[in-house]
Amino acid sequence: MLPTIFKEAIPLLTKIESAGFEAYFVGGSVRDFLLERPINDVDIATSAFPEEIKGIFPQTADIGIDHGTVLVIEETGEYEITTFRTESGYEDFRRPDSVEFIRSLEDDLRRRDFTMNSLAMDADGHIYDPFNGQDDIEHKMIKTVGEASERFSEDALRMLRGIRFVSQLGFKLESATLEALKTHSSLLTHIAVERKTMEFEKMIAGGFRREALRLLLETSLYIQLPGLSPYKEAIRTMADLPGIDRLTTEQTWLLLLSYIDESPSDFLKEWKLPSKTIKERTKEKHILTKRMKEGWSKGLLYDTGLERAINVEKVYECIHSPSASIIDQLQEEYNEFPIKSLKEVKVTGSDLMEWTGKNGGPWIKETLQHVEQAIINGEIQNDTETIRRWLEECNRLEKN
Ligand code: ATP
Ligand code: MG
Repeated sequence: MLPTIFKEAIPLLTKIESAGFEAYFVGGSVRDFLLERPINDVDIATSAFPEEIKGIFPQTADIGIDHGTVLVIEETGEYEITTFRTESGYEDFRRPDSVEFIRSLEDDLRRRDFTMNSLAMDADGHIYDPFNGQDDIEHKMIKTVGEASERFSEDALRMLRGIRFVSQLGFKLESATLEALKTHSSLLTHIAVERKTMEFEKMIAGGFRREALRLLLETSLYIQLPGLSPYKEAIRTMADLPGIDRLTTEQTWLLLLSYIDESPSDFLKEWKLPSKTIKERTKEKHILTKRMKEGWSKGLLYDTGLERAINVEKVYECIHSPSASIIDQLQEEYNEFPIKSLKEVKVTGSDLMEWTGKNGGPWIKETLQHVEQAIINGEIQNDTETIRRWLEECNRLEKN
């Protein structure tokens, strides 16, 4: 039985076929189908040229027409349909600078990175496998289509992709592929940071990230990743942490940051991550440092907020493997806070101005934060009259 995601896309294949062309599912979706893994998206490859595809489907968008990809918009979803192509002129070990549209499926499959990714499936569920990808899948082997050193010299990103597939699938790198990776790892220097970051993020989220980290070391590929060259020992330490498989992608970034000496934002900027992400990880790193030095005070937990505190604590526990987790305890403690933010304090700036006759100014925020802290620490109740009396006792309501 074909998964729904394929079934819904079959009418597209048959429509292209009725127009006299070939069309297949290709790449990751076919691989994941054979592995009985969840399928992200189905890519379709065809002998029809982009203009011909646009003539077949009423609703399309040119998303990568230079590379032969047309986006087809159908009721069941949006599909990327790419014309069979060969690639040539790999300048500087990166993407090709020219592609040629062709009519042969086999030649299209030949340009793909690994045998497991060079499978095609037609509308009847027949698999086309000219490079024995199914065998390699069965043996859990990642093997380049053709000569590994040649393929890695054409596009050096393929090496990092190989390791991210190890992380996602738990496969091994076939020996010639691994050897070529070791001898060609320095070519990764020619690859744009954004492409490396995309693969690296998938790598650190995989179920076999431990093996992937070890491979980065074994092949010296880590040296070509942004800011990582001084951190061989840290990567080894990370790979050995018992809890590393349980962390989310975000938590794994934070774990990595915990070993980095330079400013977290400078390090993350090298990876060209979105500024919002950089800000959040930087904040978390700051909190993690505090938590390492002083533990969780009520104030630190309150200021951090529960969700962020749990992320930080998970990373802390991954590093230190304490005999018991305190995450439930943090949760309880946080839930018991009588207020969760300054806005909930039962006194406002205007109350303070009225009680003192003073004008607004920085003193208002200071006083409110003082009250907030006392409420969190259980010194006073969050009640207007109580707060007023307490402020009077502390001489904080002196009139002008
Ligand atoms: P995922 O499930 O993560 O999307 P995928 O195998 O579909 O994995 P994509 O990056 O979506 O990976 O690429 C789709 C297909 O395009 C691959 O399966 C492979 O056949 C081909 N491909 C992608 N990147 C390269 C590359 N750098 N060199 C050669 N072929 C590639
Ligand atoms: Mg894909």
